[in-house]
Amino acid sequence: MTDRYALLATAYTSFWRGVDWVFPPECAGCGAEGYQICPDCLQGIHYTSRESCVYCGRKLKARGICPRCLQNPPAYAGVRCVAGFEGVIRQVVINLKYHADLGLSLAAAELMARLVQEEAWRPEMVVPVPLSVNRRRKRGYNQAAVLAFPLSLYLKLPMRTQALARLRDTRSQVGLNSQERQDNVRGAFKADPRLVRGKEILLVDDVFTTGATLRAAAEALRSAGCAKVQVVTLAKALNSQ
Ligand SMILES: [Zn+2]
Ligand SMILES: [Zn+2]
Repeated sequence: MTDRYALLATAYTSFWRGVDWVFPPECAGCGAEGYQICPDCLQGIHYTSRESCVYCGRKLKARGICPRCLQNPPAYAGVRCVAGFEGVIRQVVINLKYHADLGLSLAAAELMARLVQEEAWRPEMVVPVPLSVNRRRKRGYNQAAVLAFPLSLYLKLPMRTQALARLRDTRSQVGLNSQERQDNVRGAFKADPRLVRGKEILLVDDVFTTGATLRAAAEALRSAGCAKVQVVTLAKALNSQ
């Protein structure tokens, strides 16, 4: 199994390096030619600290649980986000939302893979937060899956998009308070017990906003019998808690 993923990972990354060589990319942050994210922009990323709330990423003096999450813990075991939604990371998220830029997602997924390794998480499969069928048809792809696929290759794990489905669109979360956001997404997801029962799952999204969507997705996975859910996202909304 592992060998197959290692081979696929090598083939995929080599292919995209080849594409980058033929068509030099421009840095998503500053436009410098020859990089997906140039060394200067990588240096400039404000990486989130481990000294934060395990459940919502809010800054704390040490890794722990903030009072709000202590009162209302999620169904997932932990979350890490690469950086705040600003600078080059913000640009990467926006680019991926409007174009399935696979070279760029490879660079972004490498940053996410580091967090999973830093936390020493041992997931057995990678699952992207799904879009509803309608929304995916409109956009043509799911940006969470565009990040989750290269991440699964870095981690040498299978990606299982079929494990979790989005049953309905949720209305825009803008302007809702945290309780309203949770109500808005409750029951929006359904997981397939045949794929997730007893498994440890890495749930992937592009942005952690209030966590309401990720909480609902994790709840669906746990109700279908999955053993543990950990969450990794590329960005964290700056105003989230
Ligand atoms: Zn740059
Ligand atoms: Zn918290």
